[in-house]
Amino acid sequence: MASARETITLDEARELALSALTRHGCDAPNAEAVAGVMLAAEADRAESHGLFRLPGYVASLKSGKVDGGARPSVTRLAPGVVRVDGRGGFAPLAIEMGRAPLIEATREQGIAALALVDIHHFAALWPEVEALAEAGLVALACTCATPMVAPAGGTKPFFGTNPLAFAFPRRDAPPVVFDQASAAMARGDVSIHAREGKPVPPGTGLGPDGQPTIDPAEVLKGAQLPFGGYKGSNIALMIELLAGALIGEVFSYEAGQRGPKDGGPPVGGELILALDPDRFGAGAWRDRVENLLAEMLAQPGVRLPGARRHRNRRETGRTGIDVPSALLAEIRALAGGE
Ligand code: NDP
Repeated sequence: MASARETITLDEARELALSALTRHGCDAPNAEAVAGVMLAAEADRAESHGLFRLPGYVASLKSGKVDGGARPSVTRLAPGVVRVDGRGGFAPLAIEMGRAPLIEATREQGIAALALVDIHHFAALWPEVEALAEAGLVALACTCATPMVAPAGGTKPFFGTNPLAFAFPRRDAPPVVFDQASAAMARGDVSIHAREGKPVPPGTGLGPDGQPTIDPAEVLKGAQLPFGGYKGSNIALMIELLAGALIGEVFSYEAGQRGPKDGGPPVGGELILALDPDRFGAGAWRDRVENLLAEMLAQPGVRLPGARRHRNRRETGRTGIDVPSALLAEIRALAGGE
């Protein structure tokens, strides 16, 4: 049976998130940045990365794992490499502080990278790539997590659900954006299935006995599976190398051994690549993009990645958002209300 839900406005949700975060040790810039990504997810009806994450953020403030007052530092290590040290804080403020220097380096060089280290990330990745595409750049982002996904052929958690996000700007339209876990299902969605007592699709994961199961509670105790078998497993491996080895940060299996298991975001890194499409010699790229998308969308049943979110965003400003009543009660308590 579906759980009870309540409708609130995005402004009410933002106030609740800010109160809960500041009450538990976030300073204003960190609270604004964290609330901003959760509310962006709520606005797009990406529920598994919206207010659902707030108790986890608060748990990591309470446990002392994350510094709610962290002030990230930004360094231009090379003409095309910007590094942000998050100094043990949540990821969103570090990402915000790295954005302008990354855009500047990309405009100068045609291509640049942002290496984020010592951050705690468990948000969706599309906000960072979408913001870069809205500034006219092509962007790719990836991050590791904690061990949850068995490598192809294995049965034990090793990779994170390691998401990869991509955005490409368009003329007079929201950018093309995809953002997907390399696991068959994002962890938050497995948890939501468990909370609602719904089975997960076959291929989502294995129980603790290493056998396939559609029981989300068993998958949470066992191991998730990569999407597309060895192909998703290889993408997860690439992300460990890019967001771990390349930038000097922990791999998912190491992050799992660090800090208290408080239900909040793990420590780790993120790599963001940006390309300036005006610097690749393809003068008519905007027309070519529109031609490609029009040809693709001519097939019935086809849609663009990101289209669902952008449609939802247009609606939720008007309708507000539906939040599970139990979650809302928990958040109101964290914010110091009833
Ligand atoms: P989904 O499987 O829901 O969607 C993946 C992508 O595919 C989205 O961009 C989606 O666009 C697009 N898409 C869905 N259906 C279609 C379709 N029919 N045609 C074309 N495109 C389509 O995402 P996941 O469950 O894999 O991931 C959910 C979130 O979890 C991501 O935001 C990810 O960043 C986050 N995550 C974060 C982690 C972290 O540690 N920070 C770890 C793992 C995941 P649309 O949005 O428009 O539906």
